[in-house]
Amino acid sequence: MPDTYAVIGNPVTYSKSPLIHAEFSKQTGQDMYYEAILAPLNGFAAAIEDFRQNGGKGMNVTIPFKVDAYKISTQLTEQATAARAVNTLVFDGDEIYGHNTDGAGLIRDIVINLGFAITAKRVLLCGAGGAARGIILPLLNQEPRMLVISNRTVQKAHKLRKQFSSYNNTIVSGNYEDITGKEFDLVINATSASLFGEPLPLPQGTFSAESLAYDIMYGNGQTPFLQFASQEGAEYLSDGIGMLVEQAAESFFIWRGIRPETKQLIEMLRK
Ligand code: NDP
Repeated sequence: MPDTYAVIGNPVTYSKSPLIHAEFSKQTGQDMYYEAILAPLNGFAAAIEDFRQNGGKGMNVTIPFKVDAYKISTQLTEQATAARAVNTLVFDGDEIYGHNTDGAGLIRDIVINLGFAITAKRVLLCGAGGAARGIILPLLNQEPRMLVISNRTVQKAHKLRKQFSSYNNTIVSGNYEDITGKEFDLVINATSASLFGEPLPLPQGTFSAESLAYDIMYGNGQTPFLQFASQEGAEYLSDGIGMLVEQAAESFFIWRGIRPETKQLIEMLRK
């Protein structure tokens, strides 16, 4: 019997995780089966219990259940604790281990795949929702020269700064007007603005010629954020496909102890 894994969400049919993990298991020769589970909005805990009782080994968790997964975990990694959200579960006896691999996936895509060092760079993180919260600790671990968190609702940006001030007390938070006159080496769009085809109200001069503009959204062609960065002269542009594949590779590593190759899959999905 192959070991079983799943992605759980609502909706879940859009998820590329079954395809990604099927590729990973083929590539590494792992005897495993990975499926998609649509859980009712009020049925997350029951769906998890059912999956565990049937011998399921682990799960990826997507919208809207990442906070529910955080709450049911009996053991949490530092990253999941900081993110207050879990995207990867491991079932082992009575224990439910909760991980968050989103931030690690993003960092791996930027540093390894794109070859862009974050250390000593000026970083602007746009957004203060769940995705942004999961990114901050892995970003800080790269020791950027500066981290600014900007958000439309400024109170949420301040809240994140306070939450992470024990890790680094030089984080700056504000709204988009507050960054006027400041230039950044790396600008990450961790908002959902691109989902709606909307630009961010970034001032001119945010990007330099050597900047990397990274939109964690994927699948909609060049987003208004990336178009603006390009117009402003940013040399490097990336969507979030690499992050998606790398967070999955990180989950696969947690479950199977093997790190799959990601380059070809990223190229295939981008096409
Ligand atoms: P949340 O709903 O938690 O947060 C949304 C954020 O976007 C808030 O900061 C919100 O600001 C901001 N926002 C929304 N619309 C606009 C707008 N028009 N202008 C400016 N800011 C806006 O969402 P998540 O953080 O969970 O997800 C954000 C995005 O990240 C999604 O598009 C998701 O698909 C993507 N994602 C990609 C991953 C990958 O692997 N590539 C992994 C995880 C997420 P405010 O607080 O003012 O409302």
